Amino acid sequence: AVILSPDADKKADFPGLLTPEGAPWHYLDTAATAQKPQAVIDAISRALGKDYATVHRGVYARSAQMTQGYEAARDRVARFMGAKSADEIVFVRGATEAINLVAATWGMTRLSAGDRIVLSVLEHHSNIVPWQMVAERTGAQIDVCPLTDDGRIDLGALEALIGPRTRLVSLAHVSNVLGSVLDARKAADLAHSVGAKIMLDGCQAAPRMILDMAALDCDFYAFSGHKIYGPTGIGVLWAREELLESMPPWQGGGAMIDKVSFQGTTYAPPPQRFEAGTPMITEAIALHAAIDYVDALGPDRLFAHEAELARKLREELRRTNAVTLFGPEESAGIVSFALEGVHPHDLGTILDEENVAIRAGHHCAQPLMEHLGVPATARASFGLYSDENDIAALMRGIERTRRIFG
Ligand code: PMP
Repeated sequence: AVILSPDADKKADFPGLLTPEGAPWHYLDTAATAQKPQAVIDAISRALGKDYATVHRGVYARSAQMTQGYEAARDRVARFMGAKSADEIVFVRGATEAINLVAATWGMTRLSAGDRIVLSVLEHHSNIVPWQMVAERTGAQIDVCPLTDDGRIDLGALEALIGPRTRLVSLAHVSNVLGSVLDARKAADLAHSVGAKIMLDGCQAAPRMILDMAALDCDFYAFSGHKIYGPTGIGVLWAREELLESMPPWQGGGAMIDKVSFQGTTYAPPPQRFEAGTPMITEAIALHAAIDYVDALGPDRLFAHEAELARKLREELRRTNAVTLFGPEESAGIVSFALEGVHPHDLGTILDEENVAIRAGHHCAQPLMEHLGVPATARASFGLYSDENDIAALMRGIERTRRIFG
């Protein structure tokens, strides 16, 4: 059974799920970005309003309170991820910035010619391009792990691919196109067996899985606030404390220093070392509210809810006999498909007229599109507020599209 609906009406918490006329908007693009619950909107409004001040500097009470709020957000993220300490949490602009930070600091100092970085076919461009940039500068090489027939990262192939020169394995915990879930602990064990580090792109996992850094045994973990029902402009890089300590700073400026003089500058310890400039104060406070919201519902229940919706949608799509489905049967709430004879963009446009929002395109995963042999897919992705009505609206829209296209 679908776990969170229809009795637990979560839609009421999300003002973004209505059209301007107040009709239901069937938002099936949560993998791109999640709608925000009122609690998050209220938190950001308070933080920008009556609570607003800078952090870490002011001697006045308002600034001290804001600093407390900012650091409380870091503590909350640490608890949410099962981190050993809040010092392992670096606030960044998003997952993209987190991966770039690791590539530019750890990557640029640890990689040299002949070293190997392992990625997979299904990675988002943000977990490909930063490594290509580092590879270009260091002479490191990229190996690409293939997928199983049903679209999961093939861990058997990963085992064969990694070797003594592998320094880093960087993989999506959950695919943003196929919804496939990685056995992350197995991947970590394989990486560590050759002395490599492992980074997980947790963009699609953080909104729907219990994160436990100790159990995953990974080295770096990244996610974006806006995909976990929080605001844009903030994300999280988690790394083992000893790794963060060993990494040189990336951006220079205020807040990341110990002492500055023209004779030489010394740097603050992590996480401050990696947070140059005035940080995303209001965003961090709103992210705290988002994590409270998600945690109260239970990420494992959200996973079950969205996986069940994905299973139902796959079943309905299959019943049309006009749809190609991509990805594994067991999907973390993300369904990519092609409707026979209809370009995904045309489908998306017709669905929009029916107040149904899906994504159509390459989903920032062009190598995966090439692997699937399509230029684009249509993608429906669920969030905690999704329910069977959204699936019904999508199916009505697909039927209408089929009639239009004859
Ligand atoms: N990785 C995955 C799996 C994603 O889904 C996304 C966002 N689509 C990203 C990375 C990049 O996240 P952001 O654009 O928020 O930095």
